[in-house]
Amino acid sequence: MSTPPVLNSASASSSGERFLEGKVALVTGASRGIGRAIAERLALRGAKLACVATHAKNCAETVDRCRALGAPAAQALGVDVSSTQAVAELVEQVQKELGEPYVLVNNAGLTRDQLLLRMSEEDFDRVIAVNLKGAWNFTRAAARSLMKGRGRIVNISSVVGLMGNAGQSNYAASKAGLLGLTRSVAKELASRGVCVNAIAPGFIQTDMTAKLGEAAAQELASSIPLKRIGTPEEIALAVDYLVGPGGAYVTGQTLVVDGGLCL
Ligand code: NAD
Repeated sequence: MSTPPVLNSASASSSGERFLEGKVALVTGASRGIGRAIAERLALRGAKLACVATHAKNCAETVDRCRALGAPAAQALGVDVSSTQAVAELVEQVQKELGEPYVLVNNAGLTRDQLLLRMSEEDFDRVIAVNLKGAWNFTRAAARSLMKGRGRIVNISSVVGLMGNAGQSNYAASKAGLLGLTRSVAKELASRGVCVNAIAPGFIQTDMTAKLGEAAAQELASSIPLKRIGTPEEIALAVDYLVGPGGAYVTGQTLVVDGGLCL
């Protein structure tokens, strides 16, 4: 497997300014993996971070890292994203304590894989509730703030939402649903200057894919045109583009970041 590029604070600060200085960015699923990398990238851009995971304490390390990278403020928050009421209360808390969100990244997600005939109704419902309804909950709760600031929403979907995947009918449906949500909200909020986009990552090195095991990961990497699994930072850089000056005239799109897997 070839080595991914190494990103650090020095390379980021030399390649751009703090275009989110003092603006509030809310990132769900920020305790680890892709969500943590996104929070860190937005911290480098000067954002005040609301880092959300199932339990606030799981975001403590992310918050420390964001502060060290120059975030003017960073807060750890815990919620089950599938709870509409709890999400509304959390967003209200963020508005009061950090300010009105300008960036919303709907990244929290989980898998409950099983072949169709063996999948339980509970596992189907749970994956849809967290991955799809969770994003709708946050989008609705933060919409007024985002409209006031002509903000940005980024939904983290998956290539599986485009291609489908055996054993992931629940997950693929949730990720395809996110693309419909993205395009619909993009149309609804465009007149208020809000840009809404999705990113479809391919295979990215995180706890979610660590379940595969080394041998399966190697085999998978060899089937990817760029011959390697991606890094969380590479997804964070795609978010960086969409929430930055480059993304100002981009809305309703799906940016595929997969090393050519879908080709
Ligand atoms: P991860 O399992 O490492 O992290 C998931 C995050 O979501 C954690 O912070 C967790 O606390 C949070 N979360 C899960 N359920 C939640 C709930 N009910 N309420 C609140 N928070 C909850 O996952 P990751 O690999 O970093 O993936 C992040 C996102 O990217 C997910 O939406 C995933 O579907 C998507 N994605 C990942 C890959 C990959 O290869 N890793 C590929 C495509 C898409």
